[in-house]
Amino acid sequence: MSSDISFLEQVNLMFDKAARFTDHTGGLLRQIKMCNSVYAMEFPLQRDNGEIETIQAWRAEHSQHKLPTKGGIRYASNVNEDEVRALATLMTYKCAIVDVPFGGAKGGIKISTREYSANELQKITRRYAYELTRKNFIGPGIDVPAPDYGTSGREMAWILDTYNSLTTEPLNALACVTGKPVGQGGIRGRTEATGRGVYIGIREACGYKEDMDKLGLTPGLKGKTVIIQGLGNVGYFAAKFLEEGGCTIVGIGEYEGAIYSKDGFKLEDVVNHRKETGSIMGFPGAENIESSKDILEYQCDILVPAALEGQITEHNADRVKAKIIAEGANGPTTSEADKILLGKGCLILPDVYLNAGGVTVSYFEWLRNLSHVRFGRMNRRFEQSSASNILSAVEKLTGRNFTEGDRSSVAIGATEVDLVNSGLEETMINAYVEIRAIAIAKDTDLRTAAFFNAIDKVAKSYAEMGIWP
Ligand code: GLU
Repeated sequence: MSSDISFLEQVNLMFDKAARFTDHTGGLLRQIKMCNSVYAMEFPLQRDNGEIETIQAWRAEHSQHKLPTKGGIRYASNVNEDEVRALATLMTYKCAIVDVPFGGAKGGIKISTREYSANELQKITRRYAYELTRKNFIGPGIDVPAPDYGTSGREMAWILDTYNSLTTEPLNALACVTGKPVGQGGIRGRTEATGRGVYIGIREACGYKEDMDKLGLTPGLKGKTVIIQGLGNVGYFAAKFLEEGGCTIVGIGEYEGAIYSKDGFKLEDVVNHRKETGSIMGFPGAENIESSKDILEYQCDILVPAALEGQITEHNADRVKAKIIAEGANGPTTSEADKILLGKGCLILPDVYLNAGGVTVSYFEWLRNLSHVRFGRMNRRFEQSSASNILSAVEKLTGRNFTEGDRSSVAIGATEVDLVNSGLEETMINAYVEIRAIAIAKDTDLRTAAFFNAIDKVAKSYAEMGIWP
């Protein structure tokens, strides 16, 4: 992150750039931009060794133009209020861009998860959920948290249980948080959703021949080289799907260092190597890069920063060699770096679009919780037998039989994960088509187009509410 411009200011600069393309009034733009409410808290934790420590945490709700507000909770040692506000702001725009009917929110607890036992993490999480419940900062129709950096289904299950023990409205309580384990009301496909969305967005972007021509690249994913920063939930699944889609992973950055091999490596081999040795370093045939951030400057076609914000700055942007920057993380590129990369002709797939797969599938999970039925439960067998009946009728008419293989690939009913993945794909493709068309019409970059689209949709929502003439 640039030393003198905060993360929130960076986000707001991007907003201002896009706002210039709109004809909304200054007052309305200001209302859209401002973060509506922030709950800052400090509470005590008794550590396993008996000592008392004070924990700092926040929940920011950026916009209630649609309810509930939505966004993850991150656990990291550098969490601060400015960051939580910035991330909540990005959530509002992200939801608008992919037509997920939520306002934006974000939570953060300032702890390094590595330094706390599971028991301590559970105490912290439950106290945080208790504070949110008491102050009306959580609820199926109010504000719905989800996982983010440093959290997963485990923490979401603790939050659900705490909320459940306090609520007086248990019927829809499952929908108070998403990203839950499947056994606790979670939805299949949520864990990999952000990474899958990143993959779909990149695939979509690489599908336009004229856009690839401008970058000097061939259309399609096949043979494209990729560097991933961060092997967490987003980075790992993005890398996995990109590899399956025909890309070659040539570099990986993690907190212990980075590795690079111009001929590439298999993701699973690196993951297994890390499991065995505790580090990605020392992977056979790969170059070790002690200073992990340097991996961002290595040769590749697609660079996927999928860790934290402020990674590509005015200090390293001119050395980035990738033609496509695919923002898996939130805010990995500062506004100064954004200018430098665009000046070099890079295609930046912005965070507010590219990592929206997570919140999209969170929306599906929330719907599932409110409807109290698994997607596919009512129709799967019906679809399967209808298709089977059609095939039998065709066989009867033609006097010829389908092979078992043909029959089993056609006579299927959609399972929950089929529907989730299909809904995610539809969402990511539609949103890309929308922002690409705006970028062309306004002769601007994709981030500005995405922000423009978000501003317009949120403004429309205010206008429809009749608050603004
Ligand atoms: N933390 C994720 C994000 O930044 C997911 C949010 C959600 O599912 O609510 O988009």
